[in-house]
Amino acid sequence: MSSMFLTNNTSINDTSLIEPYGGRLVDLLVPAEQAADLKDYASRLPSVQLTERSVCDLELLATGAFSPLDRFLGKEDYRSVLETMKLTSGYVMGLPVTLPVEPSDAIKLDADIALRNSKNELLAVMTIEEIFDWNLDEEAQLSYGTRDLRHPLVAEMHQWGKINISGRLRVLQLPIHYDFQDLRLTPAETRARLERLGRSNVVAFQTRNPLHRVHEELTKRAAQEKDAVLLLHPVVGMTKPGDVDHYTRVRTYKALAHRYYDTDRILLTLLPLAMRLAGPRSVLKHAMIRRNYGANHLIVGRDHASPGVDSTGKPFYGPYDAQELMQRFSAELGVGMVPFRELVYLPDEERYEEISRAPRDARTASISGTQVREDYLNNGRLLPSWFTRPEVAEVLAEAYPPRHRQGVCIWFTGLSGAGKSTTADVLTVLLLEHGRQVSVLDGDVVRTNLSKGLGFSKEDRDTNILRIGYVASEIVRHGGMAITAAVSPYRSTRNDVRNLVGSDHFIEVFVDTPLGVCEERDVKGMYAKARRGEIKDFTGIDDPYEVPLHPEITLDTVNYTPEENAHLILDFLLERGFVKGEAELSLAVAV
Ligand code: ADP
Ligand code: ADP
Repeated sequence: MSSMFLTNNTSINDTSLIEPYGGRLVDLLVPAEQAADLKDYASRLPSVQLTERSVCDLELLATGAFSPLDRFLGKEDYRSVLETMKLTSGYVMGLPVTLPVEPSDAIKLDADIALRNSKNELLAVMTIEEIFDWNLDEEAQLSYGTRDLRHPLVAEMHQWGKINISGRLRVLQLPIHYDFQDLRLTPAETRARLERLGRSNVVAFQTRNPLHRVHEELTKRAAQEKDAVLLLHPVVGMTKPGDVDHYTRVRTYKALAHRYYDTDRILLTLLPLAMRLAGPRSVLKHAMIRRNYGANHLIVGRDHASPGVDSTGKPFYGPYDAQELMQRFSAELGVGMVPFRELVYLPDEERYEEISRAPRDARTASISGTQVREDYLNNGRLLPSWFTRPEVAEVLAEAYPPRHRQGVCIWFTGLSGAGKSTTADVLTVLLLEHGRQVSVLDGDVVRTNLSKGLGFSKEDRDTNILRIGYVASEIVRHGGMAITAAVSPYRSTRNDVRNLVGSDHFIEVFVDTPLGVCEERDVKGMYAKARRGEIKDFTGIDDPYEVPLHPEITLDTVNYTPEENAHLILDFLLERGFVKGEAELSLAVAV
């Protein structure tokens, strides 16, 4: 099996592109003339709603990116891939591609089933030829070498369906992408474009990050060394949670590709892959996919497809494990590896070099991903030009405004009359004074508009809080400050809201005023009414208030004035960087 690919690995004598992995590109799209009938038939079938991951997998199966695979793995292939990294046919396949679903009456052998996306749009019809159990611990251990929940895929697997299904696929509709349409090419289209560039060698670069100078250096060196076209092939399906979003990344790739590469030597296209971040095993899959897109070389650097560190702080894989595994399978895959050790910048010589080749005693410079976020983007500092091209630095700066221009939600919670609105009013004025835009969502006011008609049952209260939370999350997403003042008595609902907004941008302020004091204040005369039984389910009287367990701030309104408390919150925001201090303001004027 392996020998038939060996010639493709190192040199190609004619100018035709390397053949697809397995010899032919799979194409699962049903021809247009059959589509109408099949669609009609499918509309009457029971459906399975695919996860985002399965939609990505289906797209790559359909277009032949996973050739020779033409279906989600069946049992024998699944076992074979887990244990030997090969399909039963002998083709190298680094990781399983399965369709896990929940058991139901519709999942039975020989039945047809419609596959739909999250919006219920019809994508494909599958004939169920196999149904089999899978074991989470086993797959985690064999595929990812760990069962640690810090591995993003291991964490995700807990939400997968309990059984795998496989069978013939007839694809009616590829997932539709409205973004960057000119950059979305199938393997066949990519091959045609590469062919036109007229070079027999194609070096692919896999990435899920914005490209900095170091990546430019890697890719240019590799293309030069192999006298090749560079296939710049970023992943835009699913990457690691917390990565820079693909819209921003693609804007950086476009800026770079247009300005800094020879247009005859580069092809930028997007890969809708759902990554599995399995380090070494991922590299085999990446190579197989790139071969289908027409590349015969793949760049493999340090920490390829790394999921980061485990729960003890140790990296899941060694920095060059991926290179070792790729070395072993390169000939069989028919994809050569262009390996790089870690590249560093030598400021005295103003150039990049592999660390192992840098002159001894040379000064080196690098900026880690964390430093990029913490020291530069969050502080509104542009990345230096030795590290990032200015066009790229600008795209990143636009997408990641400094913290004082990021959104934040200040969520007051506490009993009625505790002092939420009063403190929020003072805080609002202080924030406006410091140049921030503020929207106040006061519980009483919201009940007169957004939540008009809602009562005080647990359900209605939750609905009210979730509505406030939703609006707050939109304000925060757009860089504004949302201050909310609602009793919000239930812990789980407050947690839901925290998740909606995002914990990094959520500041829970517990106004911890004893019930007796609130009752004594009785601003609206409500406590008296509740005590007389004229109103029911009043928080603190005949409905519970669940005290926050880990609020960011707790206020004492008995011993401190509203003004003092508002300043306490302001100081917290200043310290977190959500508000610019006086010193920074005057500095900005001076500069
Ligand atoms: P991935 O998660 O797929 O590795 P990245 O965008 O982080 O995506 O990396 C893309 C490729 O560039 C990988 O092969 C990686 O090993 C390589 N790479 C990134 N940074 C460096 C570096 N400083 N030195 C050497 N190789 C690197
Ligand atoms: P909530 O919004 O929590 O229902 P309000 O702010 O509407 O409460 O009412 C709190 C009442 O308590 C106001 O009449 C306010 O003047 C009074 N009060 C007395 N001391 C304080 C304090 N230190 N902080 C906030 N409010 C206080």
